[in-house]
Amino acid sequence: MRKKIVAGNWKMNKTFAEGVELAREVNEYVRYKEGSEGVSIILGTPFIHLAKVAHNITEPSIAVSAQNCATEKAGAYTGEISADMVASTGAKYVILGHSERRSYYGETSEILVKKVAQALDSKLDIIFCVGEVLEEREGNKHFDVVKKQLTDGLFNLAAEQFAHIVIAYEPVWAIGTGKTATPDQAQEMHAFIRSVIAEKYGQAVADETSILYGGSCNAKNADEIFSKPDVDGGLIGGASLKAADFFEIIKSRARH
Ligand code: PEP
Repeated sequence: MRKKIVAGNWKMNKTFAEGVELAREVNEYVRYKEGSEGVSIILGTPFIHLAKVAHNITEPSIAVSAQNCATEKAGAYTGEISADMVASTGAKYVILGHSERRSYYGETSEILVKKVAQALDSKLDIIFCVGEVLEEREGNKHFDVVKKQLTDGLFNLAAEQFAHIVIAYEPVWAIGTGKTATPDQAQEMHAFIRSVIAEKYGQAVADETSILYGGSCNAKNADEIFSKPDVDGGLIGGASLKAADFFEIIKSRARH
């Protein structure tokens, strides 16, 4: 179902104690302060934090997400974490296809197809990231790149499975750089993504799909970005690491 979502991606930040404390603070903000009504909040923590954070959260609007999962179900894959393990912690989501995993860890669409299948098999919802690098935007290839990422990574799914997908459009040139896409650039790409989904699964499915913007979104620029009709929320990296900043972004989403 199309939802207003603000998801934090903590990446490889926060020790166990720090992460538990950050989650506690977010939970307190949501519980005691006004302004987050109607927003689904997701905390994308490192694996080792998942079980404790999922256990400690008391607010029904907050869910917990992993940032990755294995391509295989179980077995001799030293160091890997399966989707079943993620789900067993109480986490409800997994972020897949983040540009850092695509570029630093060689995650191709073939790999992502396997991870998506594992996640769905474990009843996890997926935040699936797409986005172009700067040269692709400058070469006016950004629409083709994003369409291919969607087609190759997701469009083997049946429509019922696709209902478990949240898309995050994250232009790589905007991630962690302080350079945000303009609200119009975000809207243009989000509308395009929705049209590509509509072509494949029909307008009703496209209208129900939540599409998040990610890339240097913060408390100052969130209002403008979230005011756009096809921007359903945000995937937030750096600004999710301080509860007060993250809560401001959540409030921005609730306002629009
Ligand atoms: C991200 O990595 O998903 C992200 C959006 O990071 P940042 O907000 O720090 O640009």
